[in-house]
Amino acid sequence: MNCLREADVVVVGGGIMGTAVLRELSKYDLKSILVEKEPDLAMGTTKANSAILHAGFDAPNGSMKARMNVRGNTLYHILEDQLDLDIKWTGSLVVATSEEELATLRELLERGRKNGVGGLQILSAEEVLAKEPNLTKTVTGALWAPSAGVCWPFAAALSFARSAVQNGAEIFTDCRVEGIVVADGKVTGVKTSKGLIKTGLVINAAGLYADEVAKMAGDESFSIHPRKGEYILFDKTVADKMVNGIVFPTPNKTTKGVLVCTTTHGNTFIGPNAEDIEDKDDRAVTITGMDRIIASAKKLLPEIPLGAAITEFCGLRAASDSGDFIIGKSRVAGLLHAAGMQSPGLTAAPAVAEELARLVRELLPMVHLKKGFQSILPKKTVFHRLSRVKQAAAVQKNKLYGRVICRCETITEAEIVAAINESCGARTVDGVKRRTRAGMGRCQGGFCGPRVTQILARELGIPVTEVLKERADSHMFYEKEPAAGEEA
Ligand SMILES: Cc1cc2nc3c(=O)[nH]c(=O)nc-3n(C[C@H](O)[C@H](O)[C@H](O)COP(=O)(O)OP(=O)(O)OC[C@H]3O[C@@H](n4cnc5c(N)ncnc54)[C@H](O)[C@@H]3O)c2cc1C
Repeated sequence: MNCLREADVVVVGGGIMGTAVLRELSKYDLKSILVEKEPDLAMGTTKANSAILHAGFDAPNGSMKARMNVRGNTLYHILEDQLDLDIKWTGSLVVATSEEELATLRELLERGRKNGVGGLQILSAEEVLAKEPNLTKTVTGALWAPSAGVCWPFAAALSFARSAVQNGAEIFTDCRVEGIVVADGKVTGVKTSKGLIKTGLVINAAGLYADEVAKMAGDESFSIHPRKGEYILFDKTVADKMVNGIVFPTPNKTTKGVLVCTTTHGNTFIGPNAEDIEDKDDRAVTITGMDRIIASAKKLLPEIPLGAAITEFCGLRAASDSGDFIIGKSRVAGLLHAAGMQSPGLTAAPAVAEELARLVRELLPMVHLKKGFQSILPKKTVFHRLSRVKQAAAVQKNKLYGRVICRCETITEAEIVAAINESCGARTVDGVKRRTRAGMGRCQGGFCGPRVTQILARELGIPVTEVLKERADSHMFYEKEPAAGEEA
């Protein structure tokens, strides 16, 4: 096998976990490489979840989940500005509708305080309805957690990745790990679809496939099972009939339950359910799932404007057999895991990254913080958030700001061109969508899809028939076969 690279550390998986780890490692004088099997980053669980930066009252006291959640939440408050992350610190409510549920809230309050969550408070029914007037009038109280918020998960992963690259790390997409080379009980390399990477350290952040990556090195200490969660997303036009923040039902022993939640961009969603399945690639949305989440969400929000649903989607939790995160050293020397990262994995990611960087320093004691680490990413222009005066100035400077490509979300050609040409830039129509929101509005790309395809073709210097929606063979347009007698 050809040797692609040599590296001090190879991170497997380009979700929120892998990208956060890569950025943390880029603070040190290390050669770090991330490999991702898909054509873009954040195409796994990181692209389909509830997007909540949890406060941290839910996880059992003393668990890895609890520790990483609370620290991760704190870190996002710091990283928000450095990495230009899109976060709304809305706070969250866990709503009770009976006396028994109020007792559960008191347990959650106690657990949260022991986990180190600040500001927790039980609100009366009146206080809850003052915050969220559309909720069921059967509310008896709620647990208020002011430090919770909602984020834009794939943009966060891309920001971690761009920051890491800015600081010297390297990323290979379309690069599947097919084997881990172990000699004398130690990792010596990673076999990928693009060639061998010689390395003594591998960080396994492969999400649903973390057990399979571990097995490649001979570590069979855990397995990962997919647990499906389905959602319905609603148009912004009905936001006033929905909720202002994050509203959970009182949890039971197995799940946090179906929630009603705002997004960073003003939409609302209901979901997720929790369905154990076999197939790690099964992202189908089901009628049964939809019926269940609608019935559950109606217990919190009785009048849901179902006609304003704009899309449904599904995410797969990477549930470990222990139920807790698996973070740390494998019994195979040189292999570290960030596995079993189900909720609150998104929140925990920057804290897990800190923990893994600490372990890497333990294993490579000669490694030091690098001089000149750049913690700040340049801010992106989001045209629709500018004042009229600034919009006019932007158009003066670059006329492509004057061409609105996605009418639902007011995304301009200049923003799309920037998303293609920036580091870790978009290569597919969905890649543009994840970076700019073009195609995420009410028409779900029906109007702007062909125009985004044209822009991608022009910027990448390829014919429109080669532009992909997402994965291999998902072409947006095909060359028409000539009819009999017609010239080709
Ligand atoms: C329904 C649902 C709701 C959730 N809600 C929340 C929430 O509100 N708040 C929260 O904090 N967390 C939430 N989570 C959890 C959170 O989404 C995950 O913890 C997080 O996204 C996991 O990130 P990851 O990087 O570990 O995995 P992923 O995003 O799946 O990334 C793993 C990557 O590894 C790649 N990969 C796999 N195998 C290989 C290979 N052989 N070679 C190269 N690359 C490979 C994959 O392609 C993938 O891109 C939720 C999860 C679900 C499913």
